[in-house]
Amino acid sequence: MTDERPLLMLDVDGPLNPWAAPGCPPGYRTYVVTGLQVGTLSVWLNPAHGERLQRLPYHLVWATTWMHEANVVVGGRALGLPTLEVIEWTGMHLPDPDGLYWKTRQVVAWAAGRPFAWVDDEIGEADREWVAAHHDAPALLHWVDPRVGLVEEDFVALERWADGLGHGEGRSA
Ligand SMILES: [Mg+2]
Repeated sequence: MTDERPLLMLDVDGPLNPWAAPGCPPGYRTYVVTGLQVGTLSVWLNPAHGERLQRLPYHLVWATTWMHEANVVVGGRALGLPTLEVIEWTGMHLPDPDGLYWKTRQVVAWAAGRPFAWVDDEIGEADREWVAAHHDAPALLHWVDPRVGLVEEDFVALERWADGLGHGEGRSA
């Protein structure tokens, strides 16, 4: 792969769909979607996030239970993103022997030693520690509040972290 940018692993429910908000937040629109993975449900998505994500210095990757449907419903229809690579989970919502979030080991395996940032509403300190010990490249596990979704401060934090990679910073997760 010739793309030298770090990976950005994108969760949908939480970062892009602030499912725990009390109502549809300003700037968001309600989409009723039906898919094999997700069934029929109503989601809130912010059309401006597509352009904002594409301005980030990252190679975008879906890291969501929506899997390939994220490309159609979320990325394509709502956000105007190109088709992105998708992490195809080998198992979902499985208990972890060390209490890690079920995605964590699979995200690290998929990254295969490449630097990555990851936005998700279910990552925590145990995941950060495990990634720092098991991933031989910089990694940023950036929690996003599912009541709020991605905000400008999150995008700025992602930009700063990517900028820092070239200067030897951000290497300890
Ligand atoms: Mg989520």
